[in-house]
Amino acid sequence: MKKHNFSAGPSILPAIAMENAAKAVLDFDGIGLSILEISHRSKEFEAVIEEATALFKELLNIPDGYQVLFLGGGASTQFFHVPYNLLEKKAGYVNTGVWAKKALKEAANFGEVVTVASSEDKNFTYIPKGFAIPSDLDYLHITTNNTIYGTEYHTDIDSPVTLVADMSSDIFSRPVDVSKYGLIYGGAQKNIGPAGVTFVVVKEDILGKVSRPLPSMVDYRNHIKNGSMFNTPPVFPIFVIRETLRWLKSIGGVEAMYKINKEKAAILYDEIDNNPLFKGTAVKEDRSLMNVCFVMNDGYEELAAEFLPFAQERGMVGIKGHRLVGGFRASIYNAMPKESVQALVDCMKEFAKLHKK
Ligand SMILES: *Cc1c(COP(=O)(O)O)cnc(C)c1O
Repeated sequence: MKKHNFSAGPSILPAIAMENAAKAVLDFDGIGLSILEISHRSKEFEAVIEEATALFKELLNIPDGYQVLFLGGGASTQFFHVPYNLLEKKAGYVNTGVWAKKALKEAANFGEVVTVASSEDKNFTYIPKGFAIPSDLDYLHITTNNTIYGTEYHTDIDSPVTLVADMSSDIFSRPVDVSKYGLIYGGAQKNIGPAGVTFVVVKEDILGKVSRPLPSMVDYRNHIKNGSMFNTPPVFPIFVIRETLRWLKSIGGVEAMYKINKEKAAILYDEIDNNPLFKGTAVKEDRSLMNVCFVMNDGYEELAAEFLPFAQERGMVGIKGHRLVGGFRASIYNAMPKESVQALVDCMKEFAKLHKK
């Protein structure tokens, strides 16, 4: 049976990227060696990382003055790399959930941290808006898509101080005005590649301003100077990013992707809003295009345990909600085809037909 992969991360990738990855594992570009066994300093891999970087810049419309890095350690390592490099006195964080809170906690090791806004009062079901941003912050940190709660900023906010964003789960899903950000980072495994590589987009002129000594592996300037090859980079994941970005370009880039993502999300949210058995958890205006969170509607709570196996029997994978919010979460990242979203909707309709009171 066809599987519909709604996993939150690691997650679905374009079929063509996986096909090409499988081929490259056996014989990379006909050189008689696997991508897994060649030097990161070989001319073959240099071409891969150069193209991945160029596509990253092109597709995200990254202005001059910014660098793209591919590092190890996951987004969680960036939680401390960011303050290590940027926090001299005081930083501001918007608390929109678990990931934001973890980032904040790490920053507190490096200086004063203020929570500029929070949606914790309503279990992170919305994105705080209209909050004042103190001008004496070294930077303001936001999490643009809250993977666990299904909330997302739909615009790039204006900040009087350097804006830093964790875009782990919505990078390349919508056009971004990169010029509004000083630094953007994320783990690749939600939208652009397998686990094991972390992307960092950094404006060079924000670096070198803290007085503490920086370990070489932490200092972004070292990675910039060495083109992400200060040490051995995650070679294979970077190869898969290149394949994913080639695919993204082939379908028309981020604008085209955004249009498709809005269509896919609308199909699912419409069903959630119209099906009497289900209801969404995030406030409508902040609903994520990537992670769609929902629960059983009032009066139908007892069916929750039944819906999961029902959906699984019909090929749905990974729709169990995060343990912190319960219910269901369908992650519909870039590579998720519309047909899979429709399959989930059909499954919800079928379930409702059986159980509607
Ligand atoms: C998954 C996720 C993380 C954690 O990423 P790791 O690469 O596992 O460290 C951080 N932030 C957000 C928004 C995420 O979705």
